[in-house]
Amino acid sequence: MNRGLFFYTDAFQAYDMGPHHPMKPIRLRKTFELLDSYGAFGRLPLREPAPCPVSVLEKTHRHDFIQAVDYLSSGQHFPYSYQRYGFGTGDNPVFPGLFEAALLYTGASLDCASAVAEGEADVAMNIAGGLHHAHHARAAGFCVFNDCAVALRRLRERWDRVAYIDIDVHHGDGVQELFYDDPAVLTLSIHETGRTLFPGTGFVTEAGEGDGRGYSVNIPVWPGTNDLLWLDAWREIAMPILRAYKPGAVVLQLGADAHALDPLAHLCLTAQGWLEAVQDVQSLGVPIVAVGGGGYNMTTVPRMWALAASTLCGLDLPDDTPPDYAWHEEMPRLTDEASFTLSDAEMSDAKRYNDRVVAEAKETLFPYHGL
Ligand SMILES: [Zn+2]
Repeated sequence: MNRGLFFYTDAFQAYDMGPHHPMKPIRLRKTFELLDSYGAFGRLPLREPAPCPVSVLEKTHRHDFIQAVDYLSSGQHFPYSYQRYGFGTGDNPVFPGLFEAALLYTGASLDCASAVAEGEADVAMNIAGGLHHAHHARAAGFCVFNDCAVALRRLRERWDRVAYIDIDVHHGDGVQELFYDDPAVLTLSIHETGRTLFPGTGFVTEAGEGDGRGYSVNIPVWPGTNDLLWLDAWREIAMPILRAYKPGAVVLQLGADAHALDPLAHLCLTAQGWLEAVQDVQSLGVPIVAVGGGGYNMTTVPRMWALAASTLCGLDLPDDTPPDYAWHEEMPRLTDEASFTLSDAEMSDAKRYNDRVVAEAKETLFPYHGL
């Protein structure tokens, strides 16, 4: 059984972009309380995270960007020129305390990476992390600091080769970009195609550059893709490459927005279909830093992250949620009762796109991995 660690604090609630913003911090509390109602923290040690030191953050983000976040967080006048840092949009509004809140979710992922690198845990989880769209000097897609990248750099201090695995419905563009020329950090993302979804990138042709060529793996899938097709593409491309790469440790981004009920994207996965990819990553048998990510349906995210915690940390949670869980009525079970069916036309469009992507990925990427 895996030795797990779970980093959590109610102070995560401060990363709150307002009542009309789709990323609601309540999803974190609902997940925590779900696990707590199962008594999970009797077996899974709970830790309070620390904010990320700025000196560590500066290895991932440009100094002037960090300073800008600090300045904006204090609620002072918003200079027009600061739009270049990605703030002031509907996606990334400025709010008081933004800097401290962003340092905290980033620090929690850093703490996870340190715990894993120091051999204190085989799996460390931070559901507040996984903010994969943050760029070197620009906030984007609800993300300010790229905690995934910070955790990967910490793992690299211990291991020669590490992998970033992203099962969020959106392309993990920020992480890919930060390690695009680095063969020591393989980035892999399976997501809805950039032709129909933010951030519009993540095609097979984005395969890395220079020494990093072949170490940036993208698996785009078509809207409507269900468990069957998603897992088929995943197992044809992701798993062979990961097994061949043999990372010393991985950062697993657990975006829950590929679920059929997610309001921001167009895939048709079930919680249990998505979980199979988590089980596959676990089967690699290497230490895992598991971070959250997207997920905008408040009755699917807590279930999916509880399932991930159950699998990764060996909790073996029963499918029926505890009756004393505050949201038991709206989430009576962890898994979905039925799969979501597609029309024949939808299925054939998704399948045709899948077949093309799998063939293209094999041709483009497999030679770099001796496959
Ligand atoms: Zn997402």
